[in-house]
Amino acid sequence: MRNKFAIARRKLLKFGAFALGAGLVTKVNTSSANPKTKTETIIAFEELGEDATPDQVLEALLAGNKRFVANELEAPNQDFARVREVSTEQKPLVSIMSCSDSRVPLAVVFDRGIGDLFVVRDAGNIATPEEIGSLEFGGYVLGTPLMMVLGHEKCGAVKAALEGKPLPGQIGSIVAAIQPAIDRENQNDSEEFYIETIKRNVKLQIDRLKASPLLNDLVQQGKLKIVGAYYSLQTGEVEIIA
Ligand SMILES: [Zn+2]
Repeated sequence: MRNKFAIARRKLLKFGAFALGAGLVTKVNTSSANPKTKTETIIAFEELGEDATPDQVLEALLAGNKRFVANELEAPNQDFARVREVSTEQKPLVSIMSCSDSRVPLAVVFDRGIGDLFVVRDAGNIATPEEIGSLEFGGYVLGTPLMMVLGHEKCGAVKAALEGKPLPGQIGSIVAAIQPAIDRENQNDSEEFYIETIKRNVKLQIDRLKASPLLNDLVQQGKLKIVGAYYSLQTGEVEIIA
């Protein structure tokens, strides 16, 4: 029932391009910066189909983050019925690689639910072979139009890389994957440098993902967009940085 309704609405949206009702399409003022497009429509995440563009998915994803920041969570797709709905096949629209940090719960930060996000997490959001393979699965096999590497404020893995102290067990392997992101010439103890390194690490890991021929082909064909983002623990906001 729900699926049929969603598909019908999607078709109407596609051919009619009209807002059909509250909650279906959000009208957003794009400010006077671009007077040619006074209003822009963000298609709700639920309405995006297999032909969704990377930019449409990104807009819908960030709209969820705005709800989170505004403390207006809708908590979509978070009930057991949704598990049944996607039990035969998953069709996530986004692949996200983020840090394991307990303060970065992706479904909450983006106000999404079951079956929406294909997620890879490790300390420091580093793209090592298994992570790259997982994201190739997300982008190439599952066909997510959008891929995001999400760094975050106060990342302990980046802090450890900056400190450069010996670490027990295999924790050092994480730090080693981050160290090329450090601007050694200008390194200092400031908060600014810490944040800058977190952002540089996001870009470094994106470069590693783009070195994957499988992902790079998808990017070249316009089927996949890989973006970098930074999550603030102070504001809850996810900012696109690359
Ligand atoms: Zn972290």
